[in-house]
Amino acid sequence: MSLFKLTLKELQDSFTRGDASAYEIARAYFLRVSVVEPKVNAFLTVNDKEAIFVEAKAIDEELKSWRKTLPLMAMPIAIKDNICTADMPTTCGSRILGEFTPPYDATVIGKFREQRFFPIGKTNLDEFGMGSSTEHSAFGPSRNPWKLNYVPGGSSGGSAAAVAADECVAALGTDTGGSIRQPAAFCGVVGLKPTYGRVSRYGLIAFASSLDQIGPITKDVFDAGIMLNVLAGQDPMDSTSADVPVTDFTRAFKKKDVKKLKIGIPKEFFAEGLDSEVEGAVRQAIEEFDQLGGEIKEVSLPNTGVAVATYYIVATAEASSNLARYDGVKFGHRSKGNQDLLEMYRTTRQEGFGPEVKLRIMLGTYALSSGYYDAYYAKAQAVRSLIKQDFDQVFEEVDLLVTPVTPTPAFQMGEKIEDPLQMYLSDLYTISASLAGIPAISIPCGFSQNGLPIGLQIMGRPFQEEIVLRAARAYELVTNWRKKRPAIR
Ligand code: GLN
Repeated sequence: MSLFKLTLKELQDSFTRGDASAYEIARAYFLRVSVVEPKVNAFLTVNDKEAIFVEAKAIDEELKSWRKTLPLMAMPIAIKDNICTADMPTTCGSRILGEFTPPYDATVIGKFREQRFFPIGKTNLDEFGMGSSTEHSAFGPSRNPWKLNYVPGGSSGGSAAAVAADECVAALGTDTGGSIRQPAAFCGVVGLKPTYGRVSRYGLIAFASSLDQIGPITKDVFDAGIMLNVLAGQDPMDSTSADVPVTDFTRAFKKKDVKKLKIGIPKEFFAEGLDSEVEGAVRQAIEEFDQLGGEIKEVSLPNTGVAVATYYIVATAEASSNLARYDGVKFGHRSKGNQDLLEMYRTTRQEGFGPEVKLRIMLGTYALSSGYYDAYYAKAQAVRSLIKQDFDQVFEEVDLLVTPVTPTPAFQMGEKIEDPLQMYLSDLYTISASLAGIPAISIPCGFSQNGLPIGLQIMGRPFQEEIVLRAARAYELVTNWRKKRPAIR
């Protein structure tokens, strides 16, 4: 079997046994990228193949005398291009960062490097993570491997497409309001947004700091556990990373059922606007959980209806403040031929940012301006607390919540680009978990009639990723959605 078809666990086993060498793995993946990347356009930068080959040969040489491997050693992993890497440019899908190559690695990249992973490349995204289709990337959109004229979702669309197209064995994404889960659903792969604070954000270029989280996009749930094992943990470089013990998340996979777990179905997530095929697939999945021994219960999250509005105040406000640093002085693009400093600031930002980013900076600046702060920003923060309270209450009754990930399967390229509100609504079901800071996973649960993947979302209590992973894996093992692969044509 071709190496690029394996899951992370399978590839790891094959490498550990010595069946596949690091060099063979590197070669197989770079070859795969050269074949499918012209169609999928998942990457903004593909790493220097020769440099990885040198490292691969060095690993193989060292292992000859002492075969001791590490979980991510020689594993080709793609990195969303808003995570800082010292060996490759980091663009955030924006022109404003110009030729910026960070002088340092993000904490998560440092952890991966300790294991000697293969950073295969940096993946495409909506500019600064603002979008749901990668169409807001300054460097052109990525495509959905299942149907090339459909979007892969966003903002981590490049990472999800790269995993679905077997261009990497796993990828890193980031999620502010759904950007790991929504593209995972659209591309038929697994995406996990950990609890806020579970994974260090040091070196993740900020969009909305109180919401941003890094997480894995993988071929199956087991792989998400392997990735989280390396990603998780407190980091002195990120004061919002949490001091919570990190266990071996793959232990969660020993139990292959959901016995004794109470599973809530929030009725607000099945209201008007939900596509009937998506609803059908999700309801079928709920049946499976019943078969697997779960206790199913309808619950209510009454403030769900205002989550999108709340998010677009909080996220834009934080973005307007975070993006103030791009002024042409410190790094990235600088507009030339200006009369004075103020003009340089203005033209730099005008040239460097795309329309969606400008729209959000304006919205956020407005929401934070004096006279409007209380009416918008303070109000949104108060509503955010109510949304969080909804979850706290529900999690007194149930252990998990099961919902759709998106109201519809992937949409066509160009379909929503002119209508921001329609685009924003594709995150209807993912945004609540971001506002509440809770862990949530997206896993495949079926296909639409025209052959596009459908995703299932499982949310859990803060820092209870283990329970989320256990349930997701139990479901995955009794269904075979993940075994179906895109033909890419
Ligand atoms: N699509 C949402 C937005 O545009 C979420 C993005 C994200 O999670 N980075 O803000």
